[in-house]
Amino acid sequence: MADAAGDRVEERLRKAATQLQSERERLRRKLQPDPLVDVYAFQEVTLAQPTHCAKCDVELPKGTHAHLGLIDPATSGGVSKLFVCDQCLPHVHDDESNDEAVKEPENKDKEKPS
Ligand SMILES: [Zn+2]
Repeated sequence: MADAAGDRVEERLRKAATQLQSERERLRRKLQPDPLVDVYAFQEVTLAQPTHCAKCDVELPKGTHAHLGLIDPATSGGVSKLFVCDQCLPHVHDDESNDEAVKEPENKDKEKPS
């Protein structure tokens, strides 16, 4: 009887430990710096092998359009490439289109003093 109780406690402890471990794993992933920080170029590719987005970890099946990020192995410590999905690709052209909107003159209709 004592043995059965001990087993149950052990099992519960083990379960708790596993939970803690996956929790820690998740935290560590969250704390990791931007994986795209070392990428010096992106190239649109069609995947020939299934992979995962380096940033959001979404599954990228074979045949999907993804973006190949090129990394200098000297700065990353060995990694030379990664893949990101459309959503995680940094949009470098956003600034340009924003500029046009900002350029709109705002003070052309100044209130006239009456
Ligand atoms: Zn992504």
